[in-house]
Amino acid sequence: MTGGKKNPAIGDNAADLAGSLIRGDRHALAKAITIVESTRSEHRTVAAELLNSLGAVSNRSVRVGISGAPGVGKSTFIEALGNHIVDAGLRVAVLAVDPSSATSGGSILGDKTRMETLARRPEAFIRPSPACNELGGVTRRSRESLLLCEAAGYDVVLVETVGVGQSETRVAEMTDMFLLMLLPGSGDELQGIKRGIMELADLVVVNKADGKMKELAERSAGDCQRALQFLSSRTRGWSVSVSACSAVEGTGIPAVWEQIQRHDEFLRSSGQLAARRLEQARGWMWSDLKEGLMTRLSEDESVAGYIQGLEAAITERSLLPPDAADRVLQTYGAGTAEKTKATKRKKCD
Ligand code: GDP
Repeated sequence: MTGGKKNPAIGDNAADLAGSLIRGDRHALAKAITIVESTRSEHRTVAAELLNSLGAVSNRSVRVGISGAPGVGKSTFIEALGNHIVDAGLRVAVLAVDPSSATSGGSILGDKTRMETLARRPEAFIRPSPACNELGGVTRRSRESLLLCEAAGYDVVLVETVGVGQSETRVAEMTDMFLLMLLPGSGDELQGIKRGIMELADLVVVNKADGKMKELAERSAGDCQRALQFLSSRTRGWSVSVSACSAVEGTGIPAVWEQIQRHDEFLRSSGQLAARRLEQARGWMWSDLKEGLMTRLSEDESVAGYIQGLEAAITERSLLPPDAADRVLQTYGAGTAEKTKATKRKKCD
């Protein structure tokens, strides 16, 4: 702990910030997330102090991952659902995992005005996606941000992601429930959606069930429901339901919220929630470990020079890529073993 001392990195100390955050102060929460998103080493130290000072977070909250292709209506849906949840007397936080921002420059939730009515409500907290270049990094920070939201007393945390690359899997790994959004007509093209992603879903929602699309959306929901019979669900004993809704008109939103609550109760009563949270914690450790190892590897001078040579050998086809990877691992492993021995020798001297 910082022991009450002001930390120049945050203009405050971690304990005070944690205290304000636990009391539900939204500014403190925003500041805390900025710190965990920062890559500056002094911020990383404060972030660690902050997370440690929060203590164990209970399993009280509901973590919902929401994914779907760009334009499916995620922001509009989250705003409608978020308002409905707040109307029900709960507090809701919205986070984003956005792997596309690094490459396209675009960003989900980047335009906060899209959720204007929700953003204005004191019971809601909306955090746009972090500017980050790497999916693993984004996920790590999102996990930390999620924990901060829970410590700040948010009952429901909605984690939004664009259906790009591995982002759905990552988001499913850090939430209790995965909600997949589809457009009307998608039911006919279910073959086009990766089976693995459909199998992650705990709830499927066909959006834009209004106007001319209403009938098509309802038909798509039926098609999708039938197709799901042949897939396995990641939640044991849970049958995935598909519903149609209109985020713009608000129709079907209360039914989606009921399904989310039903799933939450099911997870809790079947003992799967506790198991899933443990799985999430283990997943967090492994993703941090992988990321940490990659960082160390890329910063290791002995390996850096060596890797260039290996890359050249691969280009010249004198070495196969798996052999090159193996040599890097052996060099890094030997280097760390040497360093450990040296540290032990120093301690004995
Ligand atoms: P996102 O990219 O998935 O976050 O999608 P947005 O929420 O930004 O919505 C994309 C477009 O679809 C916008 O023009 C929305 O107004 C529109 N949209 C979203 N939900 C609905 C809906 O339920 N019905 C109709 N007709 N349009 C919608």
